[in-house]
Amino acid sequence: MSEPSAPSEQPAEQPRALPLVLSEPRGRKKPPRHLADLTPEERKALAIEAGVPGFRAKQLSTHYFSRLVDDPEQMTDLPAAQREELVSALLPNLMTPLRTLEADKGTTRKTLWKLFDGALVESVLMRYPGRVTMCVSSQAGCGMACPFCATGQGGLQRNMSTAEIVEQVLAGARALDRGEIAGGPGRVSNVVFMGMGEPLANYKAVIGAVRRLTDPAPDGLGMSARGVTVSTVGLVPRIKQLAEEGIPVTLALSLHAPDDELRNELVPINTRFSVAETVEAAWQYAEKTKRRVSIEYAMMRGINDQAWRADLLAEVLNSYGDWGWVHVNLIPLNPTPGSKWTASDPADEREFVRRLESHGIPTTVRDTRGQEIDGACGQLAAAPD
Ligand code: SAH
Repeated sequence: MSEPSAPSEQPAEQPRALPLVLSEPRGRKKPPRHLADLTPEERKALAIEAGVPGFRAKQLSTHYFSRLVDDPEQMTDLPAAQREELVSALLPNLMTPLRTLEADKGTTRKTLWKLFDGALVESVLMRYPGRVTMCVSSQAGCGMACPFCATGQGGLQRNMSTAEIVEQVLAGARALDRGEIAGGPGRVSNVVFMGMGEPLANYKAVIGAVRRLTDPAPDGLGMSARGVTVSTVGLVPRIKQLAEEGIPVTLALSLHAPDDELRNELVPINTRFSVAETVEAAWQYAEKTKRRVSIEYAMMRGINDQAWRADLLAEVLNSYGDWGWVHVNLIPLNPTPGSKWTASDPADEREFVRRLESHGIPTTVRDTRGQEIDGACGQLAAAPD
């Protein structure tokens, strides 16, 4: 989130060219530019600028998004003399896997990635009968400071680029395509922005990534927008903007409390956007996109799991109508090291579900995939060793 800046102390007269230069973050290198950062037109223009025919860009896109090839040796339709140059211009290496952990008999795989500048992020592949979900990071670190979330403790390092976000999905797609994941060759059907970071605080790059994932092949991966879920703490103006994009992704709102007093503590951005404003924005999103919103609610023992809070949550949600605009996804808390919070008692969890359902709110309890590899989304990369 950008805070209003302090009144400028600078002299009124400035050399004209300077503001342009200063608008780039100083002393910080950008991630390598990659074709997944660019629209098909921009890719073509770049190829021409590099002195090769524009159709080479399409060939590279086909290798990347359709054939899931990343080895230049296999790109035999490109002239051998230009191959290296084209690949380094449009398909540079963006990230290196530092560690891979598997669980659930090889159907859950978490990868710790090192980005070009040493920043660490994680992605998780989860295979279920009939679908494969990739959980991706959108920022290295996170600035939202939710006290129960491992990522929130370290602060924000930087935004990820569109291509860095997309490449996490493509790495999973390649592994699946090559039969490296238990269960045989397959495809990524779902992407959830529930890894590190607040996706709506890196809005432009995230929208770019959603477009690359949903653009038809070979311009993009050709996924259905319905298979993409953007999870947010509730940056209200950004939720409104997302509703206007015309890409009907599923919105997940990390509510975690139905009252401002508790939510101010659990999700500090609530001091800026209240429960009422946030839920209203989610409801408007559902109205506009006709997509059912998912309310995320991490169950914390003795903190937010009381029966009366289930009643209050149902009351808040039902005040916007009961046409099925919303469902609640309860997440058993994955305790982070040193945290004072633990998961709810199963009996309290059952009662919470019962109360919500008795008020007509469809409720699911998220399974705890990959818990032993700290792979539960939202608490990634805190302890890489
Ligand atoms: N910043 C976004 C997306 C990342 S986290 C968001 O907040 O929605 C994805 C989900 O995991 C969020 O609902 C988040 O609140 C939840 N989460 C974070 N830490 C968790 C933990 N320790 N146990 C269970 N869920 C957690």
